[in-house]
This record gives sequence, C-alpha cells and structure tokens, in this order.
Amino acid sequence: MTELVEHGELFIGGEFAEPLGDEVIEVVSPHTEQVIGRVPHASRADVDRAVAAARTAFDDGPWPRLPLAERIAAVGRIKDAIAVRHEELARVISSQNGSPYSWSVLAQALGALMVWDAHLAIARDFPYEESRDGALGPLLVRREPVGVVAAVVPWNVPQFTAAAKLAPALLAGCTAVLKPSPESPLDSWLLAGIARDAGLPEGVLSVLPAGREVSEYLVGHPGVDKVSFTGSVAVGKRVMEVASRRLARLTLELGGKSAAVILPDADLESAVAGIVPAAWMNNGQACVAQTRVLVPRSRYGEFAEALTAAASALVVGDPLDPATQVGPLVARRQRRRTLDYIDSGLREGAKLLTGGGRPAGLEHGWYVEPTLFGEVDNSMRIAREEIFGPVVCLLPYGDEDEAARIADDSDYGLSGSVWTGDVERGIGFARRIRTGSYSVNTFGLDMLGPFGGYKNSGVGREMGPEGYGAYLEHKTIHLPAGHRGDGGN
Ligand code: NAD
Repeated sequence: MTELVEHGELFIGGEFAEPLGDEVIEVVSPHTEQVIGRVPHASRADVDRAVAAARTAFDDGPWPRLPLAERIAAVGRIKDAIAVRHEELARVISSQNGSPYSWSVLAQALGALMVWDAHLAIARDFPYEESRDGALGPLLVRREPVGVVAAVVPWNVPQFTAAAKLAPALLAGCTAVLKPSPESPLDSWLLAGIARDAGLPEGVLSVLPAGREVSEYLVGHPGVDKVSFTGSVAVGKRVMEVASRRLARLTLELGGKSAAVILPDADLESAVAGIVPAAWMNNGQACVAQTRVLVPRSRYGEFAEALTAAASALVVGDPLDPATQVGPLVARRQRRRTLDYIDSGLREGAKLLTGGGRPAGLEHGWYVEPTLFGEVDNSMRIAREEIFGPVVCLLPYGDEDEAARIADDSDYGLSGSVWTGDVERGIGFARRIRTGSYSVNTFGLDMLGPFGGYKNSGVGREMGPEGYGAYLEHKTIHLPAGHRGDGGN
C-alpha cells in the first residue's frame, strides 16, 4: 500500500507558498485505483503571481546577468541532487503514471539527469558571441536569453520533459514557470525542493500543476516570452494558436506513430530484441514508441511468430515491482481509448496475434495486455493514429521502396528505425525518411543531438546545441570599420 502524499503549498518564485485558489488535484494510482496524493491545483491568480515573479527576476534580477559560471554552478547543484535522489524520483513517477520501475530508473530519472548534464556541457562551450565580417562592416552577433519561459509538460515522461526545457532555459539565463500535468504532479514537488536547495535566486522558477483551463491561461499570459510545450497534437495546435496572438516564441514536441522497418537482410534475433522494448516502451505511452513494425513479406511468418512470442512473454504487473516490463496505463480514460482502438483494429480486419484485453490475474488497475496486430494496412486507424497504449501493428511490404513509402505515409515524423545486416544500407534508408530522429540497428534518443518532429510531430527542436539555442535570441551589433567585439560570454 503506497502512503498518501499531501502537499498544501505551491512552489512560487523559489519558495513554497499558500495557493491563492482552493482547488485540489487528487492523484490516483493506476495500479490500485486508490488516491495516492493530494496537491493544490494552481489558479489563474497563482499564474499571475508566478509570471510576475519570473518577469521581475528576468527584467531586474541577478539571474540573467550572473556570470555563466555561477548559473552553471547552481544548475549543477540541481543535477547533483537529482543524481542522489534518482530512485525516489523514479518511484514517485511510477506510482503516478504506471511506468515500470526499472524503466523509470533508466529513462525517467537517469534520463532526466543526463538531460541536465548534457545541457551543462553545451552551455559551457556555447558560442554566445561571435565576431563576424559583415557585408558592410564588422559585426558582433550575440545570443541573449529569450526571457520568461512557460514550460508545459505531459504525464508520460514528466522529469525528462521538464529537464529538456528547464535545463536550457535556466542555463541560458531565462526564468521559468513549469506546468506539470494533473496526472503526475508529485515528482515536480521533489524537483521544486531540489531547485530551492540549489539556491536559485528569487523568482527564477515556479512549479504550477494545473489542468487545461489554467494551463491555457499561462500559455496566453502577456508576461511569458516563450512557450515550450510537450504533449498531444490537438493541444499543441491550440497552444500555437494562443501563443501566436502575441507572437510568443514557441517549441512544440508532439506525438508520433513511428515505424521500425525490418529489411530483408535483418537478423531475426537482434531485430526482435531491439524492437520489442522500443515498441512497448513505457506501456506504449511514449512519443517515440516504434508502433508500426514493417516486415518484408518474404519473412513475414517468422517475424510475426517471434514478435508474438516476445510480446506475450512481457511481464505485466505492478509498476513498482522491479520485474515488471509493462505496467498499467495512466488513467481509466487511456485504457478505454486503447480498448476502443483495439476494437477498431478488429473491425477494420487486422489480425489479433496476441493480447487485446485485460491481463489475467490483474482485476484492478488500468491494464491492457501487450497487444500485437498482424496483417495491418497502413490506412487503418490503428496504423494512422497515436494510440498511446501497448498496441503494436505489423505491416507487410513488398520491396524497399514500398517500405520507405509506408514508413513516410504518416501525419507524424518523430522517430523511426531500420534493422538490417548492412549498416550502410540502413544509413541510406534513414536518409529517405522524413522524421526528426532515426536509428540504425538500435533505438535511441540522445541528449546531445537535436530531437523533435517533422510534420505534425512538432515545431523546433530540443536537446543538443540546437535545443539550447531555442532559449536564446540572436542580436546583431553593427560596428564601425576597424572594430571587433571581444567574442566573450
Ligand atoms: P496533452 O496534450 O493532453 O497535455 C500536455 C500538457 O498540456 C499537460 O500538462 C496538460 O495539462 C496541458 N494542457 C492541456 N490542455 C491545454 C491547453 N489548452 N493549453 C495549454 N496546456 C494544456 O498530452 P498528454 O496526454 O499529457 O501527453 C501525451 C502526449 O504527449 C502524446 O501525444 C505524446 O506523444 C506527447 N509527447 C511528446 C513528446 C515529444 O518529445 N515529442 C514527449 C512526451 C510526450
């Protein structure tokens, strides 16, 4: 039985403070269906307070004006504390969203730590000022912090996505308001405490969990200079619309329907071993999940058999059990939605190879068996829409051109992978596909490379120097002939 966690205060401008509203968020365990946490739901007045504090801290406070080394030292203390508390973070995240604990430790907690760490390294060596010969005279090209950032994150990877926004924002000299999802607010209290202990100056960071209406108020707030949003396509479009009214800077990290393409020369064992964790990752609740698996018709039978066996062998159960490989979905509505997609797959003529219902022995909780559909056509809803549940489609293809065409025939373009006996052939294939990241005989998301989406999967990039640069504005200073800037920070 998980202990009930209750917090009465919000983190505003660097301190825990009484909320101005009286609404409460109840956090429900997706495993037991019991309430495991109660926290304040931020109100519009709390948003006003947090944005005002961030605005003052940016416009008049020390943070953006500190020497870079001092910001690096403070953010380094956040990173160090996350390292110490990573198991606690992983446990809290798993208890809220059903993420299997072993995956949570690696991808939710240590993954977030790696994001903080990578941005520390990027910030240290970033070219903030560059002297350049212009067409008309010498130029000094500067990069300056963009201002007050609203960082809106989803429930599926709450710390990883928070790190992808807060690490670059803070290091660049921005101030920020983090807006966690109501399904997963508890880990953000840990982060808030860590940030307070790291000694960020007053106003630099606030953490305000809230639902749709207050989130939208934050995104539309005139005191916010940049919105960085991770979530669904539908909400991302709405966020873009609201932010566009005052031309707020915008980064959108949205959904995916990525294809793992098995080429005819692929090794069966290693391809299956690589694809299964990438396909059913985080119970299928991962934007980069490889949910369409393309198999050459000539090898369809053996791959269908091996993937079916591997999917049905996945250990489903309590997310806090270290042996669990697939946990429950985050909420009742997510389970309902997943079962509706399974029904639609059956109606449209896909062949259910394994799964499709509630796992045996798990009478409570938002569980769905790891599910594999065979003989899927790319026009079916289960192949076109992001399900965000443990449902994977197997699509047969004829030749490599057809595989590339099917992989690309998607509204999304976030991730993808190719599995082949010839890495050079895999690289050639990767060059053809319109997605923001791609893997050859492996599956990755690297903090030092740009990450983001083509098409409906997003706008802009996170991670790498490209993601860091998204928190900086360019300024060109024109100098008289014979002068040069000093190229410093
Ligand atoms: P969601 O779009 O429902 O919510 C995302 C966040 O936006 C939450 O904090 C939510 O409270 C807030 N929100 C809701 N309505 C809003 C509005 N009108 N204005 C402003 N904010 C609003 O998404 P979700 O269900 O929390 O997360 C799952 C989605 O996130 C999936 O589509 C997944 O693919 C995507 N995702 C993408 C990435 C990526 O890096 N590309 C990473 C993780 C998740």
